[in-house]
Amino acid sequence: MCLIREGIKPIILEQEAFPRFHIGESMTGEAGQLLRRLGLEKLMLKKQHPVKHGVKVFGTGGVNSWFVPVSARDADWRLSAGTTWQVRRSEFDVMMLKEAEKRGATLLRGTATKALRANDGAVRGVTVRWPDGKSEDIEGEVVLDCSGMATFLANQRVTGPKYVGSYDKQIAFFAHVTGAVRNDGASGEKAKDNTLIFYQKKFHWAWFIPIDKEVVSLGLVLPRANFLETKQTPEEFFRTTILEINPNLRRRLADMKLVEKVHVIPNYSYQVRRFCGKGFICIGDAHRFIDPIFSFGLSATMREAEFAAPLVRKYLEGEGRDKSNPFAEHQVFCEKGIDNLEDMVDLFWEQPFVFATFLYHRYRDELIDAFAGRVYETERQPSPAIQKCRKLLKRTRDYDHEDDYSMPIGSRFHPERAALWEPNSPISTTEEWMVAQSTGKLADQSF
Ligand SMILES: Cc1cc2nc3c(=O)[nH]c(=O)nc-3n(C[C@H](O)[C@H](O)[C@H](O)COP(=O)(O)OP(=O)(O)OC[C@H]3O[C@@H](n4cnc5c(N)ncnc54)[C@H](O)[C@@H]3O)c2cc1C
Repeated sequence: MCLIREGIKPIILEQEAFPRFHIGESMTGEAGQLLRRLGLEKLMLKKQHPVKHGVKVFGTGGVNSWFVPVSARDADWRLSAGTTWQVRRSEFDVMMLKEAEKRGATLLRGTATKALRANDGAVRGVTVRWPDGKSEDIEGEVVLDCSGMATFLANQRVTGPKYVGSYDKQIAFFAHVTGAVRNDGASGEKAKDNTLIFYQKKFHWAWFIPIDKEVVSLGLVLPRANFLETKQTPEEFFRTTILEINPNLRRRLADMKLVEKVHVIPNYSYQVRRFCGKGFICIGDAHRFIDPIFSFGLSATMREAEFAAPLVRKYLEGEGRDKSNPFAEHQVFCEKGIDNLEDMVDLFWEQPFVFATFLYHRYRDELIDAFAGRVYETERQPSPAIQKCRKLLKRTRDYDHEDDYSMPIGSRFHPERAALWEPNSPISTTEEWMVAQSTGKLADQSF
């Protein structure tokens, strides 16, 4: 839709038949704003996606908590309270796809299997495998890799290498449930459809995201070793452990009923180097993913798409064709944005009390901005808050060397463990992980 706004009619190649289950259900303020810019607010309200006013994070005992409101900035950078949405992705993604088609995109159902390269290395299209098994080449002047965790162009080695980052030893379990007790307010801190986060201890947490009037998405994230040592099935583990993570969550789940199977995916972070180049841009999870704790995935993905669209138009008009990387500036712009997020999230894990103090006293507005997804340099970032996070993490960010900035240096990153991810490793995508867990192979795999 962002491309169509620029006068470009794209082909969308999607391998799955929609609707399909997907994770990523809570939006930031800026994700909501982008939907509004695309003229989708009416449709979002008509579909009755729950309205989110903020996120509340409960501490270990379930009594203390802090709240971050969804917010917006006006043209004069004045901060105001805002709202965004929670979505059931199967429905939301269908809505987005249909709307894109209605506006002029062509949807093709098939799997990209190979990147086609021109003599100068530019990506000039993809080979597609159609559902009937036949293959065909589709030529295009620009390929936007939006393949999510499948990281298509990284697999094809079109990009630079993919590094595993700091959160590579975690695992997430999630399901949809009814009977969970929500807040009881209409707006603000007590709004019934807010995101709730339950912190237990470092790297152990749960989410609670209402996705319609009855159903809540519940997720549990912790180190993978905790699960493997129990020898339980994912469902057994989820049912027992979700009740132990925080007393406040336990109270809300006395009448919980599962209405969706328990899904499992590795909650790992990674980063693809050189994710833009001649004829291609990787967007969203296709090049980078950090910890999902504060719901930044959709926001980063959709905003990168919006940033990329005018650049694609200019490229199609002939700009930057002689450069080795016509999208180099976009690349560093996006990296800087996610670096800001990463430094904030890492400080939360490393020094949660300091983080809460920053949020309530010293840097309230700046952190409210970051939580809303305003993390790019055009949005006054890195703010003093992010710079302080960086300082406390004893971290510097250097963007002077084209190939050397923004290394994956999360709080648990150790250079010796930063093994280059291997495209041929037995489990490299979410889908493969799901197959492995459903066939009982999960316990044998070291991811
Ligand atoms: C545990 C967990 C919790 C999360 N919670 C949140 C949250 O609350 N809020 C939030 O904003 N984000 C959350 N996220 C992140 C969010 O899920 C992602 O960031 C977001 O969905 C990424 O969007 P995307 O478009 O990059 O990729 P995706 O949404 O994964 O879309 C990629 C698409 O590409 C298709 N595809 C892949 N390979 C090919 C191919 N070769 N050919 C054709 N099609 C292909 C796939 O079928 C898929 O439809 C969470 C992530 C995790 C792991």
